[in-house]
Amino acid sequence: MQRTLFRALSAAAIGVLLSTGFWSSSPASAESSQEWPLRSPSEFSVEVFPHNTETISFSDSWGNRRPGGRRHKGTDIISPRGTEILAVADGVVTEMGTSPLSGYFIRIENADEWATSYLHLNNDTNGTDDGDGGTWTAFHPTLQEGDEVIAGQVIGYVGDSGNAEGTIPHTHFEIKHDGEKRNPYPFLRDALEREMQDRYSLHF
Ligand SMILES: [Zn+2]
Repeated sequence: MQRTLFRALSAAAIGVLLSTGFWSSSPASAESSQEWPLRSPSEFSVEVFPHNTETISFSDSWGNRRPGGRRHKGTDIISPRGTEILAVADGVVTEMGTSPLSGYFIRIENADEWATSYLHLNNDTNGTDDGDGGTWTAFHPTLQEGDEVIAGQVIGYVGDSGNAEGTIPHTHFEIKHDGEKRNPYPFLRDALEREMQDRYSLHF
């Protein structure tokens, strides 16, 4: 089943989703007896959702086939071009660069061998899809490799660079632990649930 989340859900819509078992695929949590919200089954947490906007959609596409025999090893988060991208957790910027597939990207090492990556950052000048941007349209102007960042800090801007050119602007978001890619979807869903609870004072 294709599951797509929209951040601007009304409380009523959330109730419908819950009653239809929308959330029932949530992975088993070792902390299920503890207070809501449940954490991902790990020590890592997406503390802040990575797009600073009400307009988002994303689905669980982990492992889906991609051209060239590749598998999708991240989550694509769709938002308007130029939306601020936020660091999801404290860490150190280990790489800022560009490549034909990834486009402009940022890699951050977080605590305890966890790492997060943000791909396809903006390569267009304001209000266009011209591809004439560069590091100045992709990255926060003061961000540099080696910088320490905190959760919620603006690091870059949503776009369609690399092999996302011509697609709807989105961030390909990855999480690694000990160098091994993990499915970001449950982490992102947890973060969104927490933010919705804060926003609507919901108690499930
Ligand atoms: Zn992707």
